[in-house]
Amino acid sequence: MARPVLVWFRRDQRLADHPALAAAAASGRPVIPVYIHEDEGQDGAAARWWCHHSLTALAEQLAARGAPLVVRRGQAARALAALAVETGAEALHLNRSAQPWLAEQDAAVAALLRSQGVAVHSYPAATLFEPEALRTRSGTGFKVFSAFWKACRQLPEPPPPAPAPRRLAGWSRALASEPITALGLLPSGVDWTGGLGATWTPGEAGGAQRLAAFLSGGALEGYAGQRDRPDREGTSRLSPHLAFGEIGPRTLWHAVRLHGGDRPGVERFLTELGWREFCHVQLHHNPDLAERPLRPAFEKFPWRDDAAGFRAWCRGRTGYPLVDAGMRQLWHTGWMHNRVRMVAASFLVKHLLCPWQRGERWFHDTLVDADAANNAANWQWVAGCGADAAPFFRIFNPVAQGQRFDPDGDYVRVHVPELAGLPALWIHRPWLAPASVLAGAGVRLGAVYPLPVVDHAMARARALAAFRALPRGHAGDLPEAAIDDA
Ligand SMILES: Cc1cc2nc3c(=O)[nH]c(=O)nc-3n(C[C@H](O)[C@H](O)[C@H](O)COP(=O)(O)OP(=O)(O)OC[C@H]3O[C@@H](n4cnc5c(N)ncnc54)[C@H](O)[C@@H]3O)c2cc1C
Repeated sequence: MARPVLVWFRRDQRLADHPALAAAAASGRPVIPVYIHEDEGQDGAAARWWCHHSLTALAEQLAARGAPLVVRRGQAARALAALAVETGAEALHLNRSAQPWLAEQDAAVAALLRSQGVAVHSYPAATLFEPEALRTRSGTGFKVFSAFWKACRQLPEPPPPAPAPRRLAGWSRALASEPITALGLLPSGVDWTGGLGATWTPGEAGGAQRLAAFLSGGALEGYAGQRDRPDREGTSRLSPHLAFGEIGPRTLWHAVRLHGGDRPGVERFLTELGWREFCHVQLHHNPDLAERPLRPAFEKFPWRDDAAGFRAWCRGRTGYPLVDAGMRQLWHTGWMHNRVRMVAASFLVKHLLCPWQRGERWFHDTLVDADAANNAANWQWVAGCGADAAPFFRIFNPVAQGQRFDPDGDYVRVHVPELAGLPALWIHRPWLAPASVLAGAGVRLGAVYPLPVVDHAMARARALAAFRALPRGHAGDLPEAAIDDA
């Protein structure tokens, strides 16, 4: 009997644009797809919910093509080595992970399997471009996005994605496999996942449907103008599908290029994929991106330990409707619009002076698209300590942001229903509304809806003072004219 080959699935839970699976299928050998569950609590609760459903969908797709998914628990290198011995596998095929600690693990896996006589083949699939291909002339990582993206655009276009194999030659012997339900990915106590289930369809087919809807619904054409509007369906909402590798970035790149051509929105959308690349390259060069600021001066930032403020922020009860709408959208659906992520994150870091790492961890636990690179790099960007970051002295005014990007208050009305009766004029600043307007809308401030946990003007002045106290060269010489209230 021909010796089989193993295909190791991780956060690449798809069949199309999957070079490892394509190579295994092309080898003509029986294919054993495998997923190893290493439960070290790396994923947050919302991502675990997604992973459960994503794996279920993947297993169905693989079984339908003739090669059932083998699910094992334990340390990846040991579990794969044991499976290779058990099946007499000739080779292991895997897509390289973008996360540096997983790349280290890949190296350990490869060394162990090769020592057993098993060939190991790895392929790029998680990003459009290989991080190592993207260095400045002096050999360092890029710190400025525009230069980074220019360098990316000078590389050959990402290769077109391979289609999903139609059939796979399965392994004739039955192999022990853990049921996905036994992995403990779903919450064991109170089931809080109803909003997630109502919002999303995890899995490759769910991602493909979302992409088709984005392309056919006109959102791509209007993307540049609408992407900042949380009250509109102006973005693709593909981030969790990308985070779990249910759709590959190359598939997205080519689909958008093919559908959109030179139409408006296309270049802007590709640039957002460029930010994803930029985040991944940052993580590649800085494995501790979620803990340590890229600008060392921020190690000395005088953060506050505001437990009550942090709790109010997490629960969407800061008294600032746009921030609260975002935090509740996150809690109910596992996702938040990008503009609101920026405002809510800025509020935690600048209005409350809570360390950005606390916010990063909360997002990690509650986002279905939680992604080690995108999350950490964006938190550093918001906090002003990351690569090409928003300057610390640019402090989002949550009222002005609400009036600009949710002008009719529709986004707030959906996620903060207790304010739904307020007219647009007051919905982003209910504490300034006349008593008669509040009474007419049934809003009792301090009871039904909180008063602001902090005054904007005071918080802004406090943040700027803290920033100015940083070592010179980072803040001390800040010109007054540069300070703005966005
Ligand atoms: C504080 C903060 C934390 C974030 N945490 C995450 C996270 O954990 N996971 C995550 O995928 N994104 C994160 N983002 C980036 C961004 O908010 C989401 O990718 C985006 O909102 C997803 O919605 P979409 O798929 O509709 O985006 P679209 O506008 O349709 O964009 C398409 C894709 O481009 C990528 N992209 C878009 N904007 C960014 C960006 N600013 N940085 C990196 N990639 C981007 C995403 O992969 C996204 O799916 C974070 C942003 C902020 C400000």
